[in-house]
Amino acid sequence: MTAALDEIQTPGRKRLLLLMTPATYRAGAYFDAAQHLDTEVIRGLDLPKTVAEEWGVPLALDFADTESSVATLKAAHARQPFDAIVPVDDSATILAARANAALGLPWNPPEAAEAARDKGVMRRLMAAAGVPSPVFRRFPLTTDPHEIARQAPYPCVVKPLRLSGSRGVIRANTPDELVAAVARLERILLDDGNARATTDILVEDFIPGVEVALDGLLREDGLHVLAIFDKPDPLDGPFFEETIYTTPSRLSAESQAAIADCAGRAAAAIGLRDGPIHAELRVNERGPWMVEIAGRSIGGLCSTILEFGAGMCLEELLLRHALRMELPSLESVGVGAGVMMIPIPKGGVLRSVYGVEEAEAVPNITGIEISIRPHTVVTPLPEGSSYLGFIFARAESPAAAEEALRAAHGKLRFDIAPLLQMAR
Ligand code: ADP
Repeated sequence: MTAALDEIQTPGRKRLLLLMTPATYRAGAYFDAAQHLDTEVIRGLDLPKTVAEEWGVPLALDFADTESSVATLKAAHARQPFDAIVPVDDSATILAARANAALGLPWNPPEAAEAARDKGVMRRLMAAAGVPSPVFRRFPLTTDPHEIARQAPYPCVVKPLRLSGSRGVIRANTPDELVAAVARLERILLDDGNARATTDILVEDFIPGVEVALDGLLREDGLHVLAIFDKPDPLDGPFFEETIYTTPSRLSAESQAAIADCAGRAAAAIGLRDGPIHAELRVNERGPWMVEIAGRSIGGLCSTILEFGAGMCLEELLLRHALRMELPSLESVGVGAGVMMIPIPKGGVLRSVYGVEEAEAVPNITGIEISIRPHTVVTPLPEGSSYLGFIFARAESPAAAEEALRAAHGKLRFDIAPLLQMAR
């Protein structure tokens, strides 16, 4: 009989606390990596106490209430110490930083974790440190949108401070578009339960160019680049849906070095210094520009396309770092890999998905994961933030991986029934 991971306790083994939401895509990859490292795993789940009791979850936490969660973790640590606390999801990064600080374990300082989750603070710190990043203006939601339209540059990007996955991020080319974008963002924020009187929004210069993502690991000696991903589909708005990522980057070595330098400066500017970072940058004739940096690794199931020396996956590498175990090469291997986050083509109820087998049969496709179940309401950007799933490819070059992803996506058909238009 196999014991649950939470129950496995062998003296001398490292103890790892993984902070995760019950819906995380990434638990499996971390559990496998921990098992491979013969490490004891304790799950800290973001769950209401009542549900946790019903499910028999030993360590339930409220990620939003960091004070009480840190107290719970301190007590657990006193009973039996953790060697590392690692956030699996973005929503756990602030709690992880506070808990690691309270327990004296190495990680990012809490202020840095907070800055990385607040686009307004992030912009201010980057601008103060001279990191190339868009000029921004911050407005209370109570500001007259026509006044915002008068002050905005064009084209510009309207965005919330604390959402993710491009939710609520909207480009405006004219004052009329700006007024409409602010109204749309306001509705998203109010529907999420934010109060108009205490909520701010950002209006930024639109930075033209191609977009890349960088995954890196911050160690005592600075930033180690783990992978740079190209995003071959143009991200020019009005909404900014992520689709294809391919790696290694096809940009010049010089451009990649400038991207790494810019991301390293951005991390330093907001105080991130330990563990993974995931950064989004735009690159144009003036060089790289920081769009965003997060103190976590790449999201969703995207990490599965990365492979490091001796077949090591990203999660094992990150756990080795957190547990201060020996690290092999930090350079990703592989000549061409890609992932496509399958966009939601329209809102409605997902009835079924056709063509998966044909798509899987496309050469160089290594897997397809439809992550939304049938009979689920799906909402496209800018109100929604999820994907229908992922397509993975591995090929002799990033261009061949991209081609395979496009061919496979072309074989998929999504039957989405429209919802009745509800009067608001
Ligand atoms: P989120 O955290 O929700 O992903 P971001 O601030 O990273 O929000 O914005 C999402 C996407 O919107 C970016 O990846 C980029 O494509 C686009 N974007 C955001 N800000 C700008 C900007 N100032 N100029 C150009 N594109 C932008």
